[in-house]
Amino acid sequence: MIVVGIETSCDETGLALYQTDRGLLAHALYSQVDLHAEYGGVVPELASRDHVRKLWPLLQHCLDEAGVSRAQIGGVAYTAGPGLVGALLVGAAGARGLAWSLGVPAVGVHHMEGHLLAPLMEDDPPAAPFVALLVSGGHTQLVEVEAIGRYQVLGETLDDAAGEAFDKTAKLMGLPYPGGPVLSRLAEQGRNGMFKFARPMIDRPGFDFSFSGLKTQVLLAWQQSDQGEQTRADIACAFQQAVVDTLTIKCERAMRETGARCLVVAGGVGANRDLRARLQQAGLAAGWRVCFPRPEFCTDNGAMIAFAGALRLAAGQAESSAIQVQPRWDMARLAPLEGAGAP
Ligand code: ATP
Ligand code: MG
Ligand code: FE
Repeated sequence: MIVVGIETSCDETGLALYQTDRGLLAHALYSQVDLHAEYGGVVPELASRDHVRKLWPLLQHCLDEAGVSRAQIGGVAYTAGPGLVGALLVGAAGARGLAWSLGVPAVGVHHMEGHLLAPLMEDDPPAAPFVALLVSGGHTQLVEVEAIGRYQVLGETLDDAAGEAFDKTAKLMGLPYPGGPVLSRLAEQGRNGMFKFARPMIDRPGFDFSFSGLKTQVLLAWQQSDQGEQTRADIACAFQQAVVDTLTIKCERAMRETGARCLVVAGGVGANRDLRARLQQAGLAAGWRVCFPRPEFCTDNGAMIAFAGALRLAAGQAESSAIQVQPRWDMARLAPLEGAGAP
């Protein structure tokens, strides 16, 4: 079955075609970064309107690239939440309309399940049970995955998400929006040990995170510094080390306490080179495997939604034709997919 994936939860329009027995056929992404840059953050109404403009041209692009006709589409998957309600509604309405006109089933996908399953699209995919570290712009969670669709959140951030901390820290040091990737590139030019920031919450039991205090520490250090180019890189380096250390320590703890043999990392911060290297090292030392998506599938994309939706459609899950989205949606309440393997 060929499944269309539609991602419109925030400021990226992602489209993809996934065939259950052949894998990913095509994918296309349009980022609205330039549209929102002058406001320094995502403007929800502008995001929705831009998704409306890009949705069908991107689908057509994918169909052309894969040499697939509309008649060959067997199902449609779309992000139903969590995310910006207007942006989600554009994807949901488009997906439902497409499915209805073709007479095929449609299924709403949880955006974080999409992120979590993205590493399963790579070669030699991990099989459940495993532990997942979800680190994105809106979430920082450690999730115990008993089976696909059966998720237990072990811990999460009490305030800022890891990606949000990267973005806000970049902004307060005057880096352009969106700051996360820029800050992480700058960190590579920073000198080790010039600044030292705390590793929040590591001395407390459990798996929760807190990153907002770290941002305040950076603000103070930046304000009291000479605010030169090298200083900015030095602070970026120390900040990134603090975040990466904290995430690594909590992952090691989760792997120890659950006895899991595999750690899956997903979400935009999963593209961070330092984090990837540190977790690889930790896994090597302790004897567990680490799986990441390719960097372009760490951040939002349509491929992960097509893939997660293909699994759910193959298990017979689809919904009525009502257009529904869930801007807030707890992963632990998803329907399990017993016995489902990679499609
Ligand atoms: P959510 O998935 O929680 O709804 P989102 O979809 O906005 O949030 P993603 O698209 O998964 O988040 O990831 C975007 C985030 O990842 C941004 O905060 C961005 O700064 C961060 N990010 C991307 N690349 C890097 C990197 N190399 N290093 C650190 N952070 C990064
Ligand atoms: Mg985004
Ligand atoms: Fe995301």
